[in-house]
Amino acid sequence: MTTTVKNPDAASIADFASKLRGKIIFPTDTEYDESRKIWNGMIDRRPALIVRCMGTADVISSVKFARKNNFLVSVRGAGHNIAGMSLADGAMLIDLSPMKGIWINPQMRIAFVAPGASLGDLDCETQAYGLATPLGIASTTGVSGLTLGGGFGWLSRSYGLAADNLLSAEVVTADGDVLRANEKENTDLFWALRGGSGNFGIVTSFQFKLYPVGPKVLAGLIVHPFKNAEKVFRHYRSFTSSAPDEATCWAILRKAPPLPFLSPEVHGKEVVILAAVYAGDVKEGEKVLESLRRFGNPIADVIGPTSFVAWQKAFDPLLTSGARNYWKSNNHTELSDDLIDILIEYTSQLPSSATEIFIGQFGGAINRVAPHATAYPHRNANYVFTVHTRWENIEDDTKCIEWSKELFDATSAYSTGGVYVNFISEGENRIAAAFGSNYERLAKIKSKYDPENFFRVNQNIVPA
Ligand SMILES: Cc1cc2nc3c(=O)[nH]c(=O)nc-3n(C[C@H](O)[C@H](O)[C@H](O)COP(=O)(O)OP(=O)(O)OC[C@H]3O[C@@H](n4cnc5c(N)ncnc54)[C@H](O)[C@@H]3O)c2cc1C
Repeated sequence: MTTTVKNPDAASIADFASKLRGKIIFPTDTEYDESRKIWNGMIDRRPALIVRCMGTADVISSVKFARKNNFLVSVRGAGHNIAGMSLADGAMLIDLSPMKGIWINPQMRIAFVAPGASLGDLDCETQAYGLATPLGIASTTGVSGLTLGGGFGWLSRSYGLAADNLLSAEVVTADGDVLRANEKENTDLFWALRGGSGNFGIVTSFQFKLYPVGPKVLAGLIVHPFKNAEKVFRHYRSFTSSAPDEATCWAILRKAPPLPFLSPEVHGKEVVILAAVYAGDVKEGEKVLESLRRFGNPIADVIGPTSFVAWQKAFDPLLTSGARNYWKSNNHTELSDDLIDILIEYTSQLPSSATEIFIGQFGGAINRVAPHATAYPHRNANYVFTVHTRWENIEDDTKCIEWSKELFDATSAYSTGGVYVNFISEGENRIAAAFGSNYERLAKIKSKYDPENFFRVNQNIVPA
C-alpha cells in the first residue's frame, strides 16, 4: 500500500483545517499516540495525520484533501477491527469516532446512527424506548465496521444480522460526493454495503430497523468442569440444533477467569462456559433453556432475568482494549465428534490465561436470507468457530500465534472454508473465503463507485 504523497504545504493544510468542525492531529502533537491507539494492542501503525471528523462535511473535506495530495486513506469507526484495518503507516486516518449521535423514532421503530457510535451507545438509546436491533456481544465495538461486515449477536437468530436490518445509509464516495443507498436509491451500493466491508465509501449515517426487546431477557452463564467437556459439547450440539430462534447459546473453552460466582480454586483451571440467552418472554425462556441448565453437574449456573443492556456488556471486562490479540476463524455447518475432540485436545494446551476457543451459534433468521440477497454470503453456517488468542507480552507472540494456527489447521477440514470478514487477522489473505460467490458482483460494484481503489485499507475488493 504505497503512494506518493504530495506533502501539502502549510498554507493548504491551514486551508483544510479552517474548513473542518473537527481537528487535525499530527505526529508532533502530544495527543498523537493516544489518538492512534486501537483495540488490538498488536497493531502499532503511524498515520501521517489524523482527522477527527465531527460530521459529514468534515468527511467530504477529508476525502477531497486526501485525493488532491495523494494520501492513502484509512477509516476508523471504533477501531475494533482485529487486523487493524482502520490504521495504515503514512496514511490519512479519517477518524469517525467523535461522530456518536443517535436518534430514535419509536413510532417508526427506526434508529438513525452516526458512524462513531459503539454498540453500547446504540443499545443505551434504543432501550430507552424498549427497542433494540441485532448487534454484537461486546459493547465497545463500533456499529460501523460491524454492520458493514455483517454483524451478529444475541438477537441475530431472531432478527438477522445488523446488515439485514440496515434500511438506509448515507455514503461519502471516493469522489467526495454524498449518496444515499437503500432499497430505492443506489440499490447496487446498498447491496454491497451489507457485508462488503468498508470498500465502497465512508458511511456517515446508518438507519436501522428496531424491534421490541427486553428491558429484561433471560440470560447468563453455565460453567462446567473441563473433565466433562466432551459430554457438554455433545449436549450443546443437540440443544443448538433444535433451539427456537429466540434462544442462542455460545460455547467457550478457556481457563476460568476470576468471576465472582466461581470459587477461587476454579480460577485459572480449564472450563467449558455456555453463554445463553432467550430473547423473548422470560417465562417461555425458562422452559426453553431448562434442558441446557439441567444437563450434567455444572460448577455454576447464573442464568436469570437480566437487563438486556447489562447482558450486552457482560463480556466487556474480558475484552478490554490494549492486549495483544490474534484470531483465526472458520464457519461450520455442524460440530462433528472429531472436531469436538480436537477442540478439547487443544484446550489442555492453551497458551495464555485469556485465550478462548469459542463456538458461536448462527442459524435462525440469519440463514433465512438468501446468500446472494446481500453481500454477506455465509447463510449456510450454523456455527462460527473462532480461536481468540489473547496475551499481554510481546515475548509470547510466537507461542500464541503458532498455537492458534495449529488449532486452526487441525480444524479446517471440518469447516465450510468460509470466514466472517470481520474475524480475519493481520497477514491473512482470505478475501475469497470472506466474500465467496458474491466477490465478482462486489468487484463490479467497486469499479463503479471506487474505480481507482481509493478505499483500500480494508479486506480489499479490487475493482473489476
Ligand atoms: C472484542 C470484540 C468483540 C467482537 N464481537 C463481535 C460480535 O459479537 N459480532 C460481530 O459481528 N463482530 C464482532 N466483532 C468484530 C467486529 O465486527 C469488527 O472488529 C468490526 O470491524 C468493528 O467495527 P469498528 O467500527 O470498531 O471497526 P474499525 O476498526 O474502526 O473499522 C473496521 C473496518 O471498517 C471500515 N469502516 C469503519 N467504519 C466505516 C464507515 N463508517 N464507513 C466505511 N468504512 C468503515 C474501516 O475502514 C475498516 O476497514 C468483535 C470485535 C471485537 C474486537
